[in-house]
Amino acid sequence: MNYAGVELGGTKCVAVLARGAETILVRHTMATTSPNETLGKLEQTLGDWKQEFGFEALGIASFGPIDVNPASATWGHILQTPKPGWAQADVANRLREAIGVPVAFDTDVNGAALAELRWGAGRGFADFAYVTVGTGVGVGLIVHGRPTRGFAHSELGHVRVSRLPGDDWPGSCPYHGDCVEGLASGSALEARFGERLERLGPDDPAWEPVVWTLAQLCHVIVCAAAPHRIVIGGGVIDRQPHLLGAIQSTLVDSLNGYLQLPDDDGDYIRAPELGSDAGPLGAIALAMTATR
Ligand code: ZN
Repeated sequence: MNYAGVELGGTKCVAVLARGAETILVRHTMATTSPNETLGKLEQTLGDWKQEFGFEALGIASFGPIDVNPASATWGHILQTPKPGWAQADVANRLREAIGVPVAFDTDVNGAALAELRWGAGRGFADFAYVTVGTGVGVGLIVHGRPTRGFAHSELGHVRVSRLPGDDWPGSCPYHGDCVEGLASGSALEARFGERLERLGPDDPAWEPVVWTLAQLCHVIVCAAAPHRIVIGGGVIDRQPHLLGAIQSTLVDSLNGYLQLPDDDGDYIRAPELGSDAGPLGAIALAMTATR
């Protein structure tokens, strides 16, 4: 059974046609420009694929924040974003009407979490968290096999956590200052260290507040949903993979014996397994939920 997916990112967007994780049949990458131009090109590509190969459903894994509430009049729209032209842009309704298949619409990080759950580091679990530490900090929190939902998708990258004692850098989040994203994201690190960032070695004390902040985020996630595993990826961690072990031991110290982490087969906190394919495969994992 074929599924189509769109990973809609801030700078580029990837359309894929797939039969599960091992069989991506076609992949098409394009720049994300204006909504009209980008969605128009997607309509063309997806329409061609539908004619040539056929597919059951479309999954859209989008940059956010987005409206994922099916009862809302603006379901399927991008919400506020500094990206020119995209605030309030209707993505999912437009593509659904143009292509004529069921559509699932969610955040890129929830899509990636579902892909890791199905094909990667979350296999075998129903409760699982996927954290990405790149330009921003995003968390896909899967509870009972589904991303958490309320009136909106969760935004755990913006929780405020306790600070590393002695660290009083104000943080870079324009909304919250020293939330997790404001302290540990790639853009926070650039704001804090500038050109020095590229030269920070693995043992540099500059990583201490990053490890502390991400361990505190994991403390929040563990206490909120007790996932069986947490994976942490994204550009910052990909370049400094040694941080994962430090985050896990800081998490264990922080929990202080109150909760015992499951030791299913080794590290509780580990790297994701799907690499750069987590994004497009996330859109496919979403598409597979659209047919249910
Ligand atoms: Zn924030």
